[in-house]
Formats: sequence, C-alpha cells, structure tokens
Amino acid sequence: MGTSFTLKEARSWINTAAADIEKNSSLLGDLDAAIGDGDHGDNMARGFTAVVKKLDTGSFAELGALFKTVGMTLLSTVGGAAGPLYGGFFLTLGKQSAGKTELDTPGLATALEAGVQDIKHRGKAVLGDKTMVDALTPALAAFKSSGDSLPAATRAAAETAADAAEKTSPLLARKGRASYLGERSIGHKDPGAASSAILLQALAKVCARA
Ligand SMILES: [Mg+2]
Repeated sequence: MGTSFTLKEARSWINTAAADIEKNSSLLGDLDAAIGDGDHGDNMARGFTAVVKKLDTGSFAELGALFKTVGMTLLSTVGGAAGPLYGGFFLTLGKQSAGKTELDTPGLATALEAGVQDIKHRGKAVLGDKTMVDALTPALAAFKSSGDSLPAATRAAAETAADAAEKTSPLLARKGRASYLGERSIGHKDPGAASSAILLQALAKVCARA
C-alpha cells in the first residue's frame, strides 16, 4: 500500500489525466456547448497533450519543478478561463512541493488545498456558483477527513468530486460565460466541475497502485 506521493506518481498522474481528458474531450465539449462556448474539451486536450510532451522530454529532480512545468504549459496552451485556473493550480502545487521528491498524505492534502485556494482567488468563485470549485471543495474535505492512507484519501476525493460535479446540474451559474444564461444554465452539469473530477479520478487511479 502506497504511503507517499513521489515523482513517479506525479508523472503517472499527469499522463493518466491526459489520457482520460483526451478520452472525455467530446463529453467535456458537449457540456460546455450547453452552457458556454463548447471549447473546454478541445482546450483541455490540447493543454494536456502539450504537458505530456514536456514531461516526456524533461527530467525533473523534484516535484516542484515538475508541477511548475505542468502549470506553465497549461497556462500557455489551455484557452478560456480554464487555462489560468488549472495553470495556477499546478503552479501552486509546484510552490508547495518545491525541493521535495515526495509528499506524504497530509503533505499532498496541504498542497492540494493551496491549489484549490488559488483557483478560488483567481476565479473569485465561491461554493454554489456552479464552477470547478463545487467539485474541488468537497473533494478536498473528503481527502482530508479520510486519514493517512494515500489510496483511501485519493479515492474519497475522486468519488466525492464525481458526485459533486453531478450536483452542479441544478445550480444557477454565477460565474463565467454560463452566468450570462441565467436560469437557462440550470439543468446542465458544469464542464469545469466535470474536468476537475476527471483529474482527481486520475490521481486516485495512480495512487491506488502506488
Ligand atoms: Mg469554454
């Protein structure tokens, strides 16, 4: 049973996330088309494809440098609001893990919490606005309350994020392009919450076999 999150898990997380984003890119595009401009799937797929290339050709001595590269690449390749938000999230993970080759479960929780805070600050979104914050906030709480087992904590976060993303459907959008729709945003799952759930599911898959 894995007890710590190392460079191996970090690389594997990003590669797994990229494959899962690619697999789900038309689903994410359809969700965004319903309440936005429909580019979320393509944007995320393009960004993560670029990230995988960067990681494949780079060598990283510590987690901070790896996550910084992920963040910078997403910032420069993912369009829309998601680029700065996910870019900032991974840059923050990089700052939190600077100089470290591994994180224990509480250490990963602290890093993820700082990343989610960064998303909240940049997006000026609060719980209930129908954004990725609605998936990430309860997921982080589930992670933190499930003890020191990395597989258990990441699984709890992933399951909670998937469930919470579904629960964005009945919400009225108060941020981003979807908010222009007003009441017509009700009844559609938020694409950012959906992509956040995919990223956390990838993390859980990787940590299950850590
Ligand atoms: Mg969009």
